[in-house]
Amino acid sequence: MPLNVIVERCPQNHPCPAIRRCPVGALKQDGFDAPTVDNQKCIDCGKCTSFCPTGALVLEKK
Ligand code: SF4
Repeated sequence: MPLNVIVERCPQNHPCPAIRRCPVGALKQDGFDAPTVDNQKCIDCGKCTSFCPTGALVLEKK
């Protein structure tokens, strides 16, 4: 599971801006909940991690 969503870091009060940055549609959000990642789709590009201002999206080193 290379991309982790750290739920405690997400204020969960807004549409996640990082979702639009994902080139493969791997991030989804239900309401204002913290986003979830489909690791089957995720290509570990890291675009979402640099876009989340609270650092809730963390790419783990393999
Ligand atoms: S690391 Fe890249 S492919 Fe994976 S969820 Fe983030 S933006 Fe999408």
